Amino acid sequence: PFDVLVVGGGPAGAAAAIYAARKGIRTGVVAERFGGQVLDTMAIENFISVSHTEGPKLAVALEEHVKAYEVDIMNVQRAEKLVPAKVPGGLAEVHLKNGAVLKARSVILATGARWRQMNVPGEAEYRNKGVAYCPHCDGPLFKGKRVAVIGGGNSGVEAAIDLAGIVAHVTLIEFDGKLRADAVLQRKLNSLPNVKVVTSALTTEVHGDGSKVTGLSYKNRDTDELHRVELEGIFVQIGLVPNTEFLKETVALTNRGEIEIDHRGATSQPGVFAAGDATTTPFKQIVIAMGEGAKASLSAFDYLIRLAPV
Ligand code: FAD
Repeated sequence: PFDVLVVGGGPAGAAAAIYAARKGIRTGVVAERFGGQVLDTMAIENFISVSHTEGPKLAVALEEHVKAYEVDIMNVQRAEKLVPAKVPGGLAEVHLKNGAVLKARSVILATGARWRQMNVPGEAEYRNKGVAYCPHCDGPLFKGKRVAVIGGGNSGVEAAIDLAGIVAHVTLIEFDGKLRADAVLQRKLNSLPNVKVVTSALTTEVHGDGSKVTGLSYKNRDTDELHRVELEGIFVQIGLVPNTEFLKETVALTNRGEIEIDHRGATSQPGVFAAGDATTTPFKQIVIAMGEGAKASLSAFDYLIRLAPV
């Protein structure tokens, strides 16, 4: 069995694996796609001490760093079930889609999350070419330009407020008849001179010139009228979905599906820890996921050294 089995090979999982392996304990990583969301990212400019890198490059660096240690990497493997230890200090099981069952004295869940997409023509084509999902990451790339934010919940309105301080103009597009964000955020939003709010609007298409975004179309849901907005960027803020569906019966999740963790990264199951975008940790970022992965790993080690000798 593994001492530490990490599920997920993004920044959180990689950090957890490295911290565990450096303790000289048996460490494994199961990942559906090693690198995680980083693989889908172009420019990364907020990975502290590295002023500019690219997602695929960072993903390779993550894997190489993990491989510098004795870590059993099981890539392109999907975990489908977690069976916690039946007795305190016993072995937990992680069941893979290919039928294999991995046993471990501690488990670190780092399965990340995925941004909900609009699923309209042009969105996938212009991803990273004007279509963005993370205002903290990509906001500065649109300095002085025109952008839209799709979604009028808290994250959409926060993004619009944030971006209004950087870009020339923000159009906030909400599907519903009114915004769903907290009143205090809406008051702040309404006080900004360079933000326009459009409600009852369904985004129908992302337009581009072949290499970058040039605009978007939306339909007024009351009148069915189509409108076109010329702009350079579109921030999609209609939800971040944690990859935790397979954990529903085993660890405590919030109503949004985030794994509930304490300040040490412990979940509701003894010996099961979690880190990164899949958890309740606020602010989903690479540096944060790495720090949380390291923390969960040290917590797992702390747990292991307190177990009865085997
Ligand atoms: P993830 O990166 O999501 O990794 C999850 C891992 O778990 C993957 O290996 C996945 O394959 C695996 N997995 C999931 N389910 C299973 C399963 N059932 N079984 C096995 N494996 C599973 N952050 C920044 O700090 N700066 C940026 O510039 C930036 N830009 C971004 C741009 C885009 C387009 C996106 C989508 C995100 C961006 N982010 C950025 C956010 C950042 O990528 C995430 O915060 C970070 O990757 C989270 O790390 P993680 O390890 O928690 O999860």
